[in-house]
Amino acid sequence: MKVRKKFLPYNQASLNSKEINEVSDSISSGWLTMGPKVKRFEESFAKYIGIKHALAVNSCTSALQLALLAHKIGPGDEVLVPSLTFVSSVNVVLHVGARPVFVDIKESNLNIDPEDIKKKITHKTKAILAVHYGGSSADLDEINKIAKQSKLVVIEDAAHAVGSKYRGKKIGNHGNTACFSFYVTKNLTTGEGGMLTTNSDAVADYVSHSRLHGISKDAWKRYSKEGNWRYDVVDPGFKFNMTDMQAALGIHQLQKLNGFIKKRQEYAQIYDRALSPHPKIKVIKLIRHQDHTYHLYPILLTGFSPDQFIKRMSELNIGTSVHFIPVHQFTYFRKNYPVANDDLQVTNTIFEQIVSLPLYPSMTKDDINYVVNATKIILNSPQGRFYDQKD
Ligand SMILES: *Cc1c(COP(=O)(O)O)cnc(C)c1O
Repeated sequence: MKVRKKFLPYNQASLNSKEINEVSDSISSGWLTMGPKVKRFEESFAKYIGIKHALAVNSCTSALQLALLAHKIGPGDEVLVPSLTFVSSVNVVLHVGARPVFVDIKESNLNIDPEDIKKKITHKTKAILAVHYGGSSADLDEINKIAKQSKLVVIEDAAHAVGSKYRGKKIGNHGNTACFSFYVTKNLTTGEGGMLTTNSDAVADYVSHSRLHGISKDAWKRYSKEGNWRYDVVDPGFKFNMTDMQAALGIHQLQKLNGFIKKRQEYAQIYDRALSPHPKIKVIKLIRHQDHTYHLYPILLTGFSPDQFIKRMSELNIGTSVHFIPVHQFTYFRKNYPVANDDLQVTNTIFEQIVSLPLYPSMTKDDINYVVNATKIILNSPQGRFYDQKD
């Protein structure tokens, strides 16, 4: 195999003149921070999801924190959360003063395991924070049912799942508060940014003022002609608002999103077909292809060290990643929220095997095939002498 000259990064955002011109327009207009474009982005996002309220903030982490606060989760409460997630899903629980309780995942879809949720509910449990891993939805029917029975709030970490569906209906539209991420690596990016969606007027009202210092609604208009200098503070809020320059990206990214998703689905099917027969690879066929947005394409390696694999992929000029280092294994959490040795067994086992392959719309089919070939060659050559630099 000929080694490609140019490094194939693990991830790359798809931005073009549409976004550049829109940001440039924001700059020329003089309205840089939260204003008309944030509003436009929120309206189109709400329409896309099919929900009443979409509130833009500066990150998914902020959205999650506001979601917990809007649902009055705080000191003395326990929040059930998977450990195979990005650390921010758990940090926010700490920031509102509640206790994170780690729940194991299902091997079949790497999402929070409803059976383990049931085992971990106590009289202090107030919420389930369900992550839609990699763009494939968690078992929402099951989770919502448990929540209803035990009077728990469900908050969806939909950082990976913009445009994903569960039973044919968009994530964000299943009766809960959902939080999306527009971080630079995510399927839709505004550089940094996030969105909270809800059908609840009360949640929307709380978020709309607490994202901007707690000052009364539409305070951002105070510097416009129809604005008023007088405003009130109803809560000690945060500085979590999105800017118009970010929304300028979001407006166009949203228009392109379905195209992005199609490309990801097409490439994921190529990976599935090429890699699933390999004896050392387990591909995770999570849910129906048409519902899955493939933010991640994880494979599980059996009988081959992920560390070695990642190193060799890098020698072949391919970037890979691992999603995620289980949160309970980090020093802070080991010290303060230790879990029993026999707990989270699926999470611990998966972490020993998992690697994410690059998958994004600006990759070409040749890039995808190169990744497939490199993967097979590496796994088939235990000595590591698997390619010829001069070939
Ligand atoms: C990226 C990510 C977040 C955080 O998103 P930000 O917008 O960077 O705050 C939260 N949860 C998961 C699962 C993520 O992957």
